[in-house]
Amino acid sequence: MKLILLGTTGFIPTDTAQTACYLLPEVGILLDAGSGLYRLPAYLPTVPLNIYLSHAHADHTSGLDYLFASYLLSAVKTSPYPLDADHIEGFVERANQFLAQTCIHADETTIAVVKPKYYELPFVWRTLQATESLPEGGVLTHFWLENPTIGYRLDWPGHSLAYITDTIACPEAAYVAKIAGVDVLLHDCYAPDHFAALSDIIGHSHLTAVAQVAARAQVKRLILIHHSPLETLNYTADLEHARRIFPLIEVGYDGMEVDF
Ligand SMILES: [Zn+2]
Repeated sequence: MKLILLGTTGFIPTDTAQTACYLLPEVGILLDAGSGLYRLPAYLPTVPLNIYLSHAHADHTSGLDYLFASYLLSAVKTSPYPLDADHIEGFVERANQFLAQTCIHADETTIAVVKPKYYELPFVWRTLQATESLPEGGVLTHFWLENPTIGYRLDWPGHSLAYITDTIACPEAAYVAKIAGVDVLLHDCYAPDHFAALSDIIGHSHLTAVAQVAARAQVKRLILIHHSPLETLNYTADLEHARRIFPLIEVGYDGMEVDF
Protein backbone atom coordinates (compact mmCIF):
# COMPACT_ATOMS: atom_id res chain seq x y z
CA MET A 1 0.00 0.00 0.00
CA LYS A 2 1.33 3.41 -0.98
CA LEU A 3 1.05 6.61 1.07
CA ILE A 4 2.04 10.00 -0.36
CA LEU A 5 2.57 13.00 1.90
CA LEU A 6 1.12 15.97 0.01
CA GLY A 7 1.37 18.49 2.86
CA THR A 8 3.38 18.10 6.03
CA THR A 9 3.33 21.43 7.79
CA GLY A 10 0.77 22.92 10.14
CA PHE A 11 -0.90 26.27 10.61
CA ILE A 12 0.27 27.97 7.40
CA PRO A 13 2.11 26.88 4.24
CA THR A 14 5.80 27.73 3.84
CA ASP A 15 8.02 27.97 0.77
CA THR A 16 8.81 24.26 1.10
CA ALA A 17 5.78 22.66 2.74
CA GLN A 18 2.00 22.80 2.39
CA THR A 19 -0.54 22.08 5.11
CA ALA A 20 -1.98 18.72 6.12
CA CYS A 21 -2.93 16.35 3.31
CA TYR A 22 -2.07 12.64 2.93
CA LEU A 23 -3.03 10.47 -0.07
CA LEU A 24 -3.51 6.72 -0.38
CA PRO A 25 -3.69 6.64 -4.20
CA GLU A 26 -4.50 2.95 -4.66
CA VAL A 27 -7.71 3.26 -2.65
CA GLY A 28 -8.64 6.88 -3.40
CA ILE A 29 -8.42 8.08 0.19
CA LEU A 30 -7.25 11.47 1.46
CA LEU A 31 -6.55 12.09 5.12
CA ASP A 32 -7.28 15.79 5.60
CA ALA A 33 -7.51 18.38 2.86
CA GLY A 34 -5.07 21.17 3.65
CA SER A 35 -3.26 23.24 1.04
CA GLY A 36 -1.14 20.21 0.04
CA LEU A 37 -4.19 19.07 -1.90
CA TYR A 38 -2.99 21.27 -4.76
CA ARG A 39 -0.33 18.60 -5.44
CA LEU A 40 -3.08 16.06 -6.20
CA PRO A 41 -3.04 16.17 -10.05
CA ALA A 42 0.46 14.63 -10.05
CA TYR A 43 -0.89 11.55 -8.26
CA LEU A 44 -4.65 11.58 -8.71
CA PRO A 45 -6.17 8.11 -8.72
CA THR A 46 -8.86 7.32 -11.26
CA VAL A 47 -11.52 6.81 -8.59
CA PRO A 48 -13.59 9.49 -6.82
CA LEU A 49 -11.95 10.40 -3.54
CA ASN A 50 -13.11 9.66 -0.03
CA ILE A 51 -11.77 12.41 2.23
CA TYR A 52 -11.55 11.92 6.00
CA LEU A 53 -11.20 15.16 7.98
CA SER A 54 -9.59 15.27 11.42
CA HIS A 55 -11.21 18.61 12.28
CA ALA A 56 -12.38 21.86 10.72
CA HIS A 57 -9.31 24.11 10.96
CA ALA A 58 -8.26 25.71 7.68
CA ASP A 59 -4.83 24.03 7.62
CA HIS A 60 -6.74 20.73 7.29
CA THR A 61 -9.59 21.83 5.01
CA SER A 62 -8.64 24.82 2.83
CA GLY A 63 -7.43 22.56 0.01
CA LEU A 64 -11.06 21.67 -0.77
CA ASP A 65 -10.97 24.90 -2.79
CA TYR A 66 -8.50 23.23 -5.16
CA LEU A 67 -10.38 19.99 -5.73
CA PHE A 68 -12.33 21.06 -8.83
CA ALA A 69 -9.15 22.38 -10.48
CA SER A 70 -7.26 19.22 -9.47
CA TYR A 71 -9.86 16.99 -11.09
CA LEU A 72 -9.86 19.21 -14.18
CA LEU A 73 -6.06 19.15 -14.56
CA SER A 74 -6.06 15.40 -14.04
CA ALA A 75 -8.74 14.95 -16.69
CA VAL A 76 -6.69 17.01 -19.15
CA LYS A 77 -3.50 15.08 -18.36
CA THR A 78 -5.11 11.68 -18.86
CA SER A 79 -7.20 12.52 -21.94
CA PRO A 80 -6.28 11.75 -25.56
CA TYR A 81 -7.97 15.04 -26.50
CA PRO A 82 -6.34 18.48 -26.28
CA LEU A 83 -7.56 21.25 -24.03
CA ASP A 84 -9.16 23.53 -26.60
CA ALA A 85 -12.45 25.27 -27.33
CA ASP A 86 -14.00 22.03 -28.63
CA HIS A 87 -13.17 19.98 -25.53
CA ILE A 88 -13.22 22.35 -22.57
CA GLU A 89 -16.88 21.62 -21.78
CA GLY A 90 -16.17 17.90 -21.62
CA PHE A 91 -13.28 18.42 -19.22
CA VAL A 92 -15.40 20.67 -16.98
CA GLU A 93 -18.21 18.12 -17.01
CA ARG A 94 -15.84 15.30 -16.04
CA ALA A 95 -14.35 17.36 -13.19
CA ASN A 96 -17.84 18.18 -11.92
CA GLN A 97 -18.82 14.51 -12.06
CA PHE A 98 -15.83 13.61 -9.89
CA LEU A 99 -16.64 16.49 -7.52
CA ALA A 100 -20.21 15.20 -7.09
CA GLN A 101 -18.87 11.71 -6.36
CA THR A 102 -16.38 12.97 -3.75
CA CYS A 103 -17.41 11.95 -0.27
CA ILE A 104 -16.23 13.93 2.75
CA HIS A 105 -16.34 12.06 6.06
CA ALA A 106 -16.12 13.86 9.40
CA ASP A 107 -17.82 14.21 12.76
CA GLU A 108 -21.02 16.26 12.93
CA THR A 109 -19.35 19.36 14.41
CA THR A 110 -16.71 19.48 11.68
CA ILE A 111 -19.33 19.03 8.96
CA ALA A 112 -21.42 21.86 10.51
CA VAL A 113 -18.43 24.21 10.26
CA VAL A 114 -16.92 23.19 6.90
CA LYS A 115 -19.97 22.32 4.76
CA PRO A 116 -21.39 25.90 4.69
CA LYS A 117 -18.03 27.23 3.41
CA TYR A 118 -18.30 24.93 0.37
CA TYR A 119 -22.07 25.16 -0.17
CA GLU A 120 -21.58 25.76 -3.91
CA LEU A 121 -19.72 22.48 -4.41
CA PRO A 122 -21.69 19.23 -4.78
CA PHE A 123 -19.72 17.08 -2.31
CA VAL A 124 -21.39 14.21 -0.50
CA TRP A 125 -21.04 14.81 3.28
CA ARG A 126 -21.15 11.81 5.60
CA THR A 127 -21.00 11.61 9.38
CA LEU A 128 -18.29 9.19 10.46
CA GLN A 129 -19.51 5.70 11.33
CA ALA A 130 -17.88 3.70 14.12
CA THR A 131 -16.42 1.40 11.49
CA GLU A 132 -16.00 2.46 7.87
CA SER A 133 -15.39 -0.05 5.10
CA LEU A 134 -12.55 0.86 2.75
CA PRO A 135 -11.65 -0.42 -0.73
CA GLU A 136 -9.43 -3.52 -0.93
CA GLY A 137 -10.99 -5.01 2.20
CA GLY A 138 -9.87 -2.27 4.59
CA VAL A 139 -11.49 -0.89 7.73
CA LEU A 140 -11.22 2.62 9.17
CA THR A 141 -11.87 3.42 12.80
CA HIS A 142 -11.69 6.80 14.55
CA PHE A 143 -11.20 8.07 18.08
CA TRP A 144 -11.07 11.43 19.81
CA LEU A 145 -7.78 13.21 20.45
CA GLU A 146 -7.67 16.73 21.90
CA ASN A 147 -11.07 18.30 21.28
CA PRO A 148 -12.04 18.97 18.45
CA THR A 149 -9.65 16.60 16.66
CA ILE A 150 -10.20 13.00 15.57
CA GLY A 151 -7.50 10.39 15.06
CA TYR A 152 -7.74 7.63 12.48
CA ARG A 153 -6.60 4.05 12.16
CA LEU A 154 -6.79 2.24 8.81
CA ASP A 155 -6.30 -1.53 8.59
CA TRP A 156 -6.04 -3.82 5.61
CA PRO A 157 -4.95 -7.44 5.71
CA GLY A 158 -1.18 -7.08 6.11
CA HIS A 159 -1.09 -3.24 6.16
CA SER A 160 -2.00 -0.64 8.79
CA LEU A 161 -1.65 3.10 9.28
CA ALA A 162 -2.57 5.57 12.00
CA TYR A 163 -2.95 9.34 11.62
CA ILE A 164 -2.59 11.52 14.71
CA THR A 165 -2.54 15.28 14.30
CA ASP A 166 -3.10 18.40 16.40
CA THR A 167 -2.75 16.69 19.74
CA ILE A 168 -0.43 16.64 22.74
CA ALA A 169 1.55 13.39 22.62
CA CYS A 170 1.48 11.45 25.87
CA PRO A 171 2.34 7.76 26.29
CA GLU A 172 -0.45 7.44 28.90
CA ALA A 173 -3.12 8.97 26.61
CA ALA A 174 -6.15 6.86 25.68
CA TYR A 175 -5.39 7.04 21.96
CA VAL A 176 -2.11 5.11 22.33
CA ALA A 177 -3.97 1.80 22.71
CA LYS A 178 -5.94 2.57 19.54
CA ILE A 179 -2.81 2.78 17.38
CA ALA A 180 -1.03 -0.25 18.83
CA GLY A 181 1.15 -2.16 16.41
CA VAL A 182 0.46 -0.19 13.23
CA ASP A 183 2.96 -0.42 10.39
CA VAL A 184 3.13 3.36 9.99
CA LEU A 185 2.29 6.06 12.51
CA LEU A 186 1.92 9.59 11.14
CA HIS A 187 2.16 11.80 14.24
CA ASP A 188 2.04 15.55 14.85
CA CYS A 189 5.43 16.90 15.94
CA TYR A 190 5.48 20.65 16.27
CA ALA A 191 8.37 21.54 18.55
CA PRO A 192 11.68 20.50 20.12
CA ASP A 193 11.75 19.32 23.72
CA HIS A 194 12.76 22.67 25.20
CA PHE A 195 9.51 24.11 23.82
CA ALA A 196 7.39 21.35 25.44
CA ALA A 197 5.49 23.85 27.58
CA LEU A 198 4.64 25.96 24.53
CA SER A 199 3.56 22.96 22.47
CA ASP A 200 1.29 21.83 25.34
CA ILE A 201 -0.35 25.26 25.47
CA ILE A 202 -1.05 25.31 21.73
CA GLY A 203 -2.24 21.68 21.64
CA HIS A 204 0.65 20.10 19.74
CA SER A 205 3.44 17.60 20.38
CA HIS A 206 7.14 17.80 21.15
CA LEU A 207 9.57 15.20 19.86
CA THR A 208 10.45 13.09 22.91
CA ALA A 209 6.79 12.61 23.84
CA VAL A 210 6.02 11.47 20.27
CA ALA A 211 8.88 8.96 20.41
CA GLN A 212 7.54 7.69 23.75
CA VAL A 213 4.08 7.23 22.21
CA ALA A 214 5.55 5.26 19.28
CA ALA A 215 7.53 3.05 21.67
CA ARG A 216 4.55 2.46 23.98
CA ALA A 217 2.26 1.64 21.03
CA GLN A 218 4.93 -0.64 19.54
CA VAL A 219 4.39 0.75 16.06
CA LYS A 220 6.79 -0.37 13.35
CA ARG A 221 7.64 3.04 11.88
CA LEU A 222 7.10 6.65 12.99
CA ILE A 223 6.84 9.51 10.49
CA LEU A 224 6.73 13.00 11.95
CA ILE A 225 4.28 15.43 10.38
CA HIS A 226 2.48 18.72 10.99
CA HIS A 227 5.77 20.54 11.52
CA SER A 228 5.77 24.12 12.71
CA PRO A 229 6.29 26.75 10.00
CA LEU A 230 8.60 28.57 12.47
CA GLU A 231 12.29 27.71 12.09
CA THR A 232 12.73 28.40 15.82
CA LEU A 233 10.62 25.27 16.52
CA ASN A 234 12.82 22.98 14.39
CA TYR A 235 13.51 19.79 16.37
CA THR A 236 16.29 18.24 14.25
CA ALA A 237 18.80 18.60 17.09
CA ASP A 238 16.63 16.36 19.31
CA LEU A 239 16.37 13.48 16.85
CA GLU A 240 19.39 11.54 18.09
CA HIS A 241 18.01 11.51 21.63
CA ALA A 242 14.50 10.59 20.42
CA ARG A 243 15.85 7.66 18.36
CA ARG A 244 17.23 6.16 21.57
CA ILE A 245 13.60 5.92 22.71
CA PHE A 246 12.20 4.80 19.34
CA PRO A 247 14.75 4.12 16.58
CA LEU A 248 12.64 4.15 13.44
CA ILE A 249 11.81 7.86 13.23
CA GLU A 250 11.58 9.64 9.90
CA VAL A 251 10.87 13.32 9.33
CA GLY A 252 8.02 13.59 6.84
CA TYR A 253 8.29 16.00 3.91
CA ASP A 254 6.05 17.06 1.04
CA GLY A 255 6.28 14.51 -1.76
CA MET A 256 7.53 11.71 0.49
CA GLU A 257 6.28 8.32 -0.69
CA VAL A 258 5.90 5.49 1.79
CA ASP A 259 5.22 1.81 1.11
CA PHE A 260 3.66 -0.15 3.92
ZN1 LIG B 1 -3.32 21.69 12.16
